This record gives sequence, structure tokens and C-alpha cells, in this order.
Amino acid sequence: MKTRSVKIVLAGLAFAICSCGLTQTLDPKSVELAKTVPIADIHSHTYILNGPASAEVVKRMSTNNVRWAGGVGDLRGDIADALKGRHIPAAGQREFAETFIRQGPSALVQTENVYFRDLFRDAHDMFAKGIIKGFGELHTNNNPSGPPPFRRTIKTDNPVIRKFYGIANEFGGFVQLHTQHNAEFTEDILRLSADFPNTTTILSHCLPLGQPEDLAYLFEQRKNIVCEMSAQGELHNRLARINRRGRVYDSNGIRPKWKALVEEFPDRIMLGSDTCCGWDAYYDEAIAEIRTNFLPYLRSDVIEQVAYKNALRIFKLDAGM
Ligand SMILES: [Zn+2]
Repeated sequence: MKTRSVKIVLAGLAFAICSCGLTQTLDPKSVELAKTVPIADIHSHTYILNGPASAEVVKRMSTNNVRWAGGVGDLRGDIADALKGRHIPAAGQREFAETFIRQGPSALVQTENVYFRDLFRDAHDMFAKGIIKGFGELHTNNNPSGPPPFRRTIKTDNPVIRKFYGIANEFGGFVQLHTQHNAEFTEDILRLSADFPNTTTILSHCLPLGQPEDLAYLFEQRKNIVCEMSAQGELHNRLARINRRGRVYDSNGIRPKWKALVEEFPDRIMLGSDTCCGWDAYYDEAIAEIRTNFLPYLRSDVIEQVAYKNALRIFKLDAGM
């Protein structure tokens, strides 16, 4: 175990020894910054079917000072036109979902599948023209972290995911994966990120079932693995009618081990709204929750990194947008 992981474990122990329900002391500088810092939303769903109108996406972003958004599907030309350089366009989610719905999980690993064929044919061109910057959200294992009819468990290092990684690798692109921590995934992601060093892996929701130590281990092993924190508070659990505390933070602030992780690896964590599942009306609440229950509890010098500077670097975005 390296020093960083040790620090994260110690942060957890200190919390356990002290007592629960402590009110964390807030730095007034962090509190102020959290209210106004620009945000890059790396998990901004824009479904083709029943998704938000492009005008609505622009409005919800400006209301919440979210300057950049994307990272997941569906890819929509009207939103790309409306956001221009503020967009982080991603393809593949629609094809992945369509394959699963029509042919089941076994078809998700077949590169010759009719639903992947056009995308694999066109993706190089789309990268070259700047129409896409990556692929996502690709669900390889969302059992039990996804809605029941949408759950599946497939191995992450499979021919289709390898194909996505290979194409992204040629363009310094990204692959956003929704998967869960386990030993097989750890081996798979270390292999994929070593075989495709120019592809950035974004772990949706900072890897459900993973502990901060598990993420620290991956971050220590590979420079091209990052994660995004969407749906880690109380809001998404409430909307999904799951009676559980926020995994990373709630109205009492961030859990100490997670705070330690973010502050040890401030260049690897980003933010997201994840108003999936018909929850577009809760966009303002999703961002407000991040600004109220997560960001103010961080050291002021890491807030800008997590909120948007990592995204500027990883997606090569223009800061002046
Ligand atoms: Zn999602």
C-alpha cells in the first residue's frame, strides 16, 4: 500500500474513532467558491427519445453556471450546434443501449453487431472532424447500480470495448464506463488503460461499490484513469426511491475517506449531473446539491480543479467559453 492509500485509510480511521455526525469545519473561502465556481458537467444526458430540447440544455447550464457539458449520450447535432465549444460530445451510448434492448447482453461484445457497424465505420471520421471526443456512457456492469430492466453484467475487457478504446486511442479521446468495482474489473481496466495509453477512462459515478482505496489504487497505477462524481449524494437515491445515504456526501458534508481521496488526487476527479431516467426537471437540484454538500467541504485550492480545470485539460476545452 502506498503513502496515499495509507492517508485515505487513516482519514477513515480518524473518523471512526472520533464519532459520527461531526459537523465539518468549513473554510469560508471554499464556501464562497463553491457557490460560484464554473462547472463542467461530465455526465450530462441528452437522450434523443424524450430528452431535453437544446434551448433547455442551454438554459439549465446558464442558470447553474455550468459552462461545459457532455461526456455521455445521446449524441445530438442540435445540442452540438447550440453549445459549440462548450460541448463534450460522446457517441456509443445509443448503440450500446439499442443492442442490449434488442439482442440482449451477449450481443454487447460482438463487434460485427449491426448496431455497432455504422459507428465503428464512421467513428474515425467523427473524431477527425471534432464531431465526437469520446464514447459513453457504456454500461458493462450495472447490476445492481442501474434501473432493473437495464441491468447487465459483461466483462469490461471484451472485443467491443477494446474497439472503442482503440479508436479513442488514435485521437487522445475518452471512454466513459459505468461499471462496478470487483477484482475482474480491476484487472480489465489496468490492462485496457495500459494497452491504450492515449485513451482516458472516465469511471462514471466514481466506480459504484468501489472504496476510496480502490480508486486510489487505480489512480496510482495509471495516469489515464479518472472518475466523475455524479449521483453520489442524496438526490439520486431519493429519485430512484432507494432508502440509502449518499455514498460520498450528504447534507453533513463529504465522508472523510472520500475527501481524502479527492484531495490526494485532485487532478483525477470531475463532476456530473446524471439527470438520466426522466429526471431532467431535477437538473438545478443536482447542481445545487454539488455546490452545497460536496464542493464547500473541499480545500479551496482543489475546488476549481475538480469543478472544471480537469475537464479543460482532459477534453481540450477552451477556458474562455
Ligand atoms: Zn448515466
